Amino acid sequence: MTTIKRILVTGGAGFLGSHLCERLVEEGHDVICLDNFFTSQKANVTHLLDHANFELIRHDVTMPVWLEVDQIYNLACPAAPGHYQFNPIKTMKTSILGSINVLGMARRCRARVLQASTSEVYGDPEVHPQPESYRGCVNPIGPRACYDEGKRAAETLFMDYHRMNKLDIRIVRIFNTYGPRMHPFDGRVVSNFIRQALSGEDITIYGDGTQTRSFCYRDDLIEAFIRMMNGSSDFIGPVNIGNPDEFTIRELAELTIELTSAKSNLIHEPLPADDPTRRQPDITLAKKHLDWTPSVPLREGLAKTIEWFRGIDVEEYRPPTPNY
Ligand code: NAD
Ligand code: UDP
Repeated sequence: MTTIKRILVTGGAGFLGSHLCERLVEEGHDVICLDNFFTSQKANVTHLLDHANFELIRHDVTMPVWLEVDQIYNLACPAAPGHYQFNPIKTMKTSILGSINVLGMARRCRARVLQASTSEVYGDPEVHPQPESYRGCVNPIGPRACYDEGKRAAETLFMDYHRMNKLDIRIVRIFNTYGPRMHPFDGRVVSNFIRQALSGEDITIYGDGTQTRSFCYRDDLIEAFIRMMNGSSDFIGPVNIGNPDEFTIRELAELTIELTSAKSNLIHEPLPADDPTRRQPDITLAKKHLDWTPSVPLREGLAKTIEWFRGIDVEEYRPPTPNY
């Protein structure tokens, strides 16, 4: 039987956060979703509002908040390059001040706290696939640094609170994850390609399309989150969570066209600065400590995501809200 816990999910209205809240509510936990709706829609969580064990708080994680909880999943942070570069200073504040605030809360409540870190801590990697022991190759002054360095600093804070205050922490490094409820205008490759294909627009491949990513379906990711949070204290991470099946961006474009039966053309646009050339997780640690491997292949997950995109009205999605 599951022990009912009070659980805070920061960034809980976002793409991943809303699915995590859903899963935790279904399990009967007392769930608090905290979000400032910078990159998300209330519609992602309105269906949960009728549940007595779900609460929604509009709050910015860079400001302290006083709550009593047993577990915290810290997801608050814009995740898509277009979103995190919208206000890079705010992105860094969200990672750093947000971490300090949730770590302070966790220390006071003796709560366990999980940080949603990222494969971006590896930057444009010289080691392939990337194991957790690889220290990365990040440009500290480039346009992606607000996100990459913010997440790296957050990992440092988590480890220091753990060493200094014996805080019960977990760190998960997420590789590209996709699925229903991605923001259709977040600029990420999966959402761009599907939106473009469904509306018959050209599909924009940045660079020559030989750069690779490894795409994980959101249900696999959420399962790994739950296992990591509730696993043994002997394994705090960092742990890579992602699907090791690696695809070129051109292959993704071709698969999207096939699954949507689109007539779109593939066109090339310039590669953004510091765009990583290869990315593939080494998931040996996740297999060993969490008994976790992803189960949804790209073709299947992409088909489900396309089905969801077909059912939404993209006009209802707004761009990030300026919040200085
Ligand atoms: P998302 O943009 O849909 O979700 C982020 C949520 O955080 C949004 O609801 C947003 O409004 C909220 N938020 C942003 N700044 C905030 C602030 N200052 N205070 C309160 N809320 C704030 O993105 P996502 O894909 O669901 O990502 C969730 C987490 O997972 C992020 O921390 C991201 O860095 C991490 N991650 C995601 C991926 C991926 O592929 N999806 C990969 C690596 C890491
Ligand atoms: N990309 C692309 N066309 C698009 C959007 C993205 O070719 O319309 C490329 C981008 O340059 C990168 C990859 O797809 O090489 C993944 O981009 P995304 O923004 O989804 O995530 P990243 O892994 O770079 O953070």
